[in-house]
Amino acid sequence: MSKLLSILDIAKAAVGFSRPLKKGEEYYERGMLLVVGIKAKTDEKLAIQALAAKTSGVMDKPHEIEVVLNLGMEAGDKVEKLQCSCKAGQSEKCKHVIATLIHLNRTDEEDVEDPTCMDLEQQWGVLKPQHVQNFKPRRTQDLCHVAERKTPFVQSVPPVTPEMRAKWKNILIRCKSHS
Ligand SMILES: [Zn+2]
Repeated sequence: MSKLLSILDIAKAAVGFSRPLKKGEEYYERGMLLVVGIKAKTDEKLAIQALAAKTSGVMDKPHEIEVVLNLGMEAGDKVEKLQCSCKAGQSEKCKHVIATLIHLNRTDEEDVEDPTCMDLEQQWGVLKPQHVQNFKPRRTQDLCHVAERKTPFVQSVPPVTPEMRAKWKNILIRCKSHS
């Protein structure tokens, strides 16, 4: 089974811009891309949707990415549409879009989540409690090593671990088996 996207497609999507490539790869390696799934499929076209955690506020609703691939085209010409709900996403050059393309470059089509599981609102509803729990703000007074200061809150943002990703994956599989 071949991968969905060639590295040529990623290069083309970021042509002229190295920053989104660098940032997108870092973002992907940190596991910030929460879900990637197939939204719709025809013989030639494949619509992919993804959720990407906000680095500025991980408890917020994530960015939504949409990628449409034309599978009938040659490598390098497969990406038909790129869109992200973030500000930079309007120009198709944001790190979330690049992270999604990197995921598609490393994933077999059969391993991309099933479309029946890709209701974004529902996905986020399932993911949120755990996701948020891992990023709970804590009062500085509760941290033994922090002397009391005027700023009452500190946000503790640990990196996303493989365990967290495995947990999310399990939720998705459960959700899939119910559909
Ligand atoms: Zn974006």
